[in-house]
Amino acid sequence: MTATASETGMSFALSDDQRMILQHVREFCRAEIAPKAAEYDRSGAYPREQLRGLAELGLMGATVPEQWGGAGLDSVTYALCLEEIAAADASVAVIVSVQNGLPEQMLLKYGTGAQREQYLRPLAGGQHIGAFCLTESGAGSDAASLRLRAERDGDAWVLNGSKAWITSGGQADTYLVMARTGGPGARGVSCFIVPGGTPGLSFGRPEEKMGLHAAHTTTVTFDGVRVPQDHMVGEEGQGLIIALASLDAGRIGIAMQALGIARAALEHAARYASEREQFGKKLREFEGVSFKVARMAARTESARLVALKAAWLKDQGQPYGKEASIAKLLASEAAVDCARDAIQIFGGNGYSREYPVERLYRDAKVTEIYEGTSEIQQLVISRAVFAEYGG
Ligand SMILES: Cc1cc2nc3c(=O)[nH]c(=O)nc-3n(C[C@H](O)[C@H](O)[C@H](O)COP(=O)(O)OP(=O)(O)OC[C@H]3O[C@@H](n4cnc5c(N)ncnc54)[C@H](O)[C@@H]3O)c2cc1C
Repeated sequence: MTATASETGMSFALSDDQRMILQHVREFCRAEIAPKAAEYDRSGAYPREQLRGLAELGLMGATVPEQWGGAGLDSVTYALCLEEIAAADASVAVIVSVQNGLPEQMLLKYGTGAQREQYLRPLAGGQHIGAFCLTESGAGSDAASLRLRAERDGDAWVLNGSKAWITSGGQADTYLVMARTGGPGARGVSCFIVPGGTPGLSFGRPEEKMGLHAAHTTTVTFDGVRVPQDHMVGEEGQGLIIALASLDAGRIGIAMQALGIARAALEHAARYASEREQFGKKLREFEGVSFKVARMAARTESARLVALKAAWLKDQGQPYGKEASIAKLLASEAAVDCARDAIQIFGGNGYSREYPVERLYRDAKVTEIYEGTSEIQQLVISRAVFAEYGG
């Protein structure tokens, strides 16, 4: 059972440090990321330069302790930073979210000292990019049915098979790969570190996606990829548990990415409605428009509260899986709804690539799909509710 507001002495106030960091990150995102978002969306170039800038701010290893090369931030501050990044460019935000939420969390929680030294440190410092390889063409929501095989060969493992839809595929330096080392089901899966240049590792062309054009997504093929035993993360058979536990943290990241999109849509819509006139009045003077803006604000604000609660619970070392799923479910709906309503408020201009809101709509949709679809979030939430109240 999680604590209630009165039990926790809840406070919404940010500390001076948190405010300062956020202000700094907001300024960077507005100056260095947002102005380039449309260009990167059109070209589909991977946003190296933006990631380098964020690494200098410590955001490629935001919650990793300084001991391992990270910034040692709390999860709430990191979540708020991620919202700023996503409000500027959701493609950059998903790369940052995957890096921080998945490979780094997995290595931090389950990696050996040597694995942390060799692989977590450069990820946390942003010198390396990380990727999370769970999904296969035949195993998406049903991740436990994955087939990529790892066979033991002396003191090494040999991986054969293929992963699908891997964010930063072909761009990453370090791949955390879930592979079958045993029989069918969740217990037959182990997790391996595969460095980018390993012989036998190859990548498909970036998928032609509806949105998030700068965040490359590829297939990753393993053709006799050989890794030593000490590249296994955690115990043999623990891989899916590690992956799913890390997805709880990842989902807070995707919720914040979605909230950044929702907030950007809200800001653009409010500004446009305050400038554009029809029938001799500003659009904002029509209730049909202002009530839309009100709903957008309500959706964004309420989802943000749950997401920050999940982040706060994580910082307290309390269970936060249910809250992370609720946050992702609500925030991704908010992103899609807000982006759609923003287009409506922009009218014909909203449908044009000259204005930013159509990109927000295209970028928003996938937040309802990856790191567990909205249906899977509802499975997670309902299971938690029945475990708590079902008797
Ligand atoms: C842009 C992008 C980036 C991605 N990045 C990564 C990555 O970095 N690493 C990685 O491993 N994966 C990644 N993915 C994969 C992503 O996590 C999967 O697409 C997602 O988990 C859904 O799996 P699927 O596409 O196979 O859909 P399916 O599992 O086939 O689902 C299809 C539909 O059926 C529904 N459904 C399935 N099972 C149930 C059920 N039990 N109850 C109710 N409804 C159900 C789903 O909700 C969905 O609506 C990425 C995907 C995209 C699009």
